[in-house]
Amino acid sequence: MTNRVRFAPSPTGQVHIGNIRTAIFNWLFARHTGGKFLLRIEDTDLERSTEEAINTLMNCLDWLDIDYDEQPVYQTKLRDSHLAATNRMISEGYAYKVPSANGGNPVFFRFPWNCDECKFVRVTGEAFYDLHPEGVLEVTAQGINFNTIGKGGKSVKNSACIAGFRNMLAYNSFGEVVFELEKNISEVLDKQQAFTFKNIAKITFTRREVFFNDIIKGEMSKPLDSMKDLIIVRSDGTPVFHIANVCDDITQEITHIIRGDDHVENTYRHLFLFYALGASAPLYGHMPMIVNSSGKPFSKRDGDAFVGDFREKGFLPEALYNYLVLLGWSPGDDREKMTKQEIINSFTLERVKSAPAQFDTNKLMNMNGMYIAELPFEDFMQNVRRFALPQWDNAQLEKVSELMKSRTKVFSQVKDWNYFFTDEFDIDPKNFEKHYKKPEIRAALKVVADRLSSENEFTAELIHSVIEDTGASFGMPGKLFQPIRLAVSGMAGGAELDATMLLIGRNRCIKNIERAIKLAEQKFS
Ligand code: GLU
Repeated sequence: MTNRVRFAPSPTGQVHIGNIRTAIFNWLFARHTGGKFLLRIEDTDLERSTEEAINTLMNCLDWLDIDYDEQPVYQTKLRDSHLAATNRMISEGYAYKVPSANGGNPVFFRFPWNCDECKFVRVTGEAFYDLHPEGVLEVTAQGINFNTIGKGGKSVKNSACIAGFRNMLAYNSFGEVVFELEKNISEVLDKQQAFTFKNIAKITFTRREVFFNDIIKGEMSKPLDSMKDLIIVRSDGTPVFHIANVCDDITQEITHIIRGDDHVENTYRHLFLFYALGASAPLYGHMPMIVNSSGKPFSKRDGDAFVGDFREKGFLPEALYNYLVLLGWSPGDDREKMTKQEIINSFTLERVKSAPAQFDTNKLMNMNGMYIAELPFEDFMQNVRRFALPQWDNAQLEKVSELMKSRTKVFSQVKDWNYFFTDEFDIDPKNFEKHYKKPEIRAALKVVADRLSSENEFTAELIHSVIEDTGASFGMPGKLFQPIRLAVSGMAGGAELDATMLLIGRNRCIKNIERAIKLAEQKFS
C-alpha cells in the first residue's frame, strides 16, 4: 500500500518553524518511502484564514522547495461531508444534540459505552474514587459529574464520559451500594434519565483506557474516565476541528499522521471518531516540540520563530531546511550538513527523537554560513545586494564581498559592512573604553598612524608589520590590532585587519585612527 501523509496547517498569517518542520518530516517520509505528500489547508477559522495567510503559507512551502502531490484540499470546501458524517453518527447513536440557551443545537460525540471490541481500548483493572461528602453524584447520558477529595480535603469537581465507568457502583458512607450503572444503563442512555445522589462516599468501576503505539513516542495511553464527550458541531452549526480533521483524513485516505505532540490529546479522541465513522485509524507519529533553552515551547519571545523572519534576515532556504531536519532527527552518524537527497535516503520516522528539540540560533547561523560559503560568487552577490545600502559603491562592494564571503553567516550581516564605504559610523562604546583607556595605547597608535602615512607603500605586509613592530616597541606586542580595528571599523570583529584596511584605504584608515585617539583623549584623559 502506498503511504499517504499530509501537512494540514491552519493558516494564521505566519508559519512557525515547528509547523514547517512537521511539513518537512511528512515530506521526507513520503519521499523516502515512495508515498504521497498531500496538502490540506485547514481554513475553518474564517477570521484568521485569510487569502493573505494562505499565500504566506504557499510562499513558504515554495521557498523551502517542499512540493506536494495531488491538488491541495481546502477544508471549508468539505464542510458538507463533515456535517453528513455528524448526522450519520447521530443516527447511529454515536453523537447527540444538546439544545443550547441561544437556540442552537451543538452536537457532541459520545465515547461509546460498548467499545471493548475497539483495538485501541483495553481494560486496566478495577479503580475507585473517594467522593467528597458535600458533593453530588450525577449520572446522565452526557457523562458523570462528581466531586473528589483534593489537597487539604478540598472538594474537586470532576466530569467524564459515561464510557469511562463500566461496572460502576456507588456506595454510601455505610458501604452500601446505592446505584449500579450496568443495571440502569438503558435508562441513562436510551431514556435519557438523569440520576442524582447525595452522600456518596465512593464509586468503584472497571477502568478502561485508550492506547496506541506511536511510531516516535512509543506506547501512549489515557484512561477513559479522564475524557469528556466531545463537541463536534458548534451551536452555530459549524463543525469543530476534531470532526473536520478526522473526516478529511478519511477522505484523503491518509495512512500516517505525523504531527506535533501538542496533538496527542486529540489523537486519543480521534481514534474513537475514526471508529465511529467506520474507518480504521492511520498510524500516528507525534513529533517532539521545538523548545527554548529553558525547555519551554519556542516562541516569538525567544527570537525569530517564523519562517518569514529567517527569510527576511537572509537565511538560505537550503540551510534552514537542513537545520530544521536536525531538530529532532539525525541520520544515525555524525553527518549534519547533508543534501536533500542524502536526507531523503536516510530518513526514517524511527530515528525521530522523542525528547524535545532545543532551538539553537548559533548552530543555525553556522549551518547557514556553510551554505553561504559554498554559493557561487554571483549568487552570493545577488543576496548581498538585497541588504547593501543604495549609496554604496558597486566596485567596492564586489571587493568587500570577496573578502567577507567566507565569514558571512547570514546576509543581514551585510549592513554591518558600512565602514568599508563611509567614515560615518560609531565605535562600539564598551570595547572603546576597554581598549582606549590607557594613555600608552594612544601614544602607540599615534606612531602607527604616522608610520602608515610616511611609508611610500600601503600593502597588507606593511600594515601588519607596522602594527606589530609598534606594539612590540611599546612593550605591548599584539595589543594594537584590536584598538585599530575599532578605529577603522567601529566593531570588534571582522575579516583580517590588514585586508580590511587595504580596502578601506590608507587615508581613511589614518584619519579614523587619529579620530579615535582624539575621542579617547576627550573621554579618558
Ligand atoms: N490544523 C492543525 C494544526 O495546524 C492540524 C493538525 C494535524 O496535523 O492533524 O495544528
